[in-house]
Amino acid sequence: MLEGRHALVTGGGTGIGLAIAQALAGQGAQVTITGRRAEVLKDAAAQAGGGGLHPLVMDVTDEAQVADGIAQAVQARGPVQVCIPNAGIAEGRALHKTDTAFWRRVMDTNLDGAFWTIRESLHSMRGTGWGRVVAVASIAGIRGLAGASAYTASKHGLIGLIRGLSEDYLGQPFTFNAVCPGYVDTEIVSRNADAISTRAGVSADEARAMMVAQNRHQRLIAPDEVARAVLWLCGPGSDSVNGQAIEIAGGRV
Ligand code: NDP
Repeated sequence: MLEGRHALVTGGGTGIGLAIAQALAGQGAQVTITGRRAEVLKDAAAQAGGGGLHPLVMDVTDEAQVADGIAQAVQARGPVQVCIPNAGIAEGRALHKTDTAFWRRVMDTNLDGAFWTIRESLHSMRGTGWGRVVAVASIAGIRGLAGASAYTASKHGLIGLIRGLSEDYLGQPFTFNAVCPGYVDTEIVSRNADAISTRAGVSADEARAMMVAQNRHQRLIAPDEVARAVLWLCGPGSDSVNGQAIEIAGGRV
């Protein structure tokens, strides 16, 4: 389905990003996976076997690193035709306890990082006859998440960016969509369980149960479930799906 296409997945060495990268590579794409930890990326590429995943160290909060990194990837594997801005941090803090450094860290990673990733990918994608951008947002891009105003604002912003782009490129062979998962079984949930357990004075198991209860079907979502939705948006038959924020949350958010 994606034979010969170059895909870029930020945060592609772990969790949801890795599941997406593997799914895209499974359809024949050459996938550049990025993140800040070289070892994690190298291990992910080695485990995939078959040579479909290509590690690239790139901090999405650094504009120059994103520009240089994507230029290098384009030189090695051709224009980016599938762009998956997925790198993100999910940390909660009451707004009255949110200092500017915390706010900036969340925005720099989740919103500015996606902006630079998409802009730099578009430079090469625009010269081709086909392209897909699928951002990994969150249910927090659709509704407010208690105790996480900065995260909520960053993911609402990300969906706004996608919707704006979908209007800019109407009628052209490029689509821009977002997927909005509920709680997915990744490191983010494990880290959140620890943080909630400290904050709320409950056990890590109880904290995990609190997150499971937020998903409408009362279970954590598997990273592969998100990957399959992304694959559909990058495959044949979804050409008319554009500017959407697709909920993957077990029920309507
Ligand atoms: P992970 O923590 O496994 O993934 C986050 C990835 O982003 C890591 O690979 C990390 O790599 C990368 N990353 C973080 N900061 C930066 C940075 N500054 N520069 C480059 N890469 C960075 O968790 P998930 O897989 O769960 O998260 C992926 C996305 O899914 C996030 O955007 C998150 O908001 C979203 N999401 C997650 C949900 C969940 O319940 N798990 C629910 C809804 C949305 P490294 O640390 O090596 O840089």
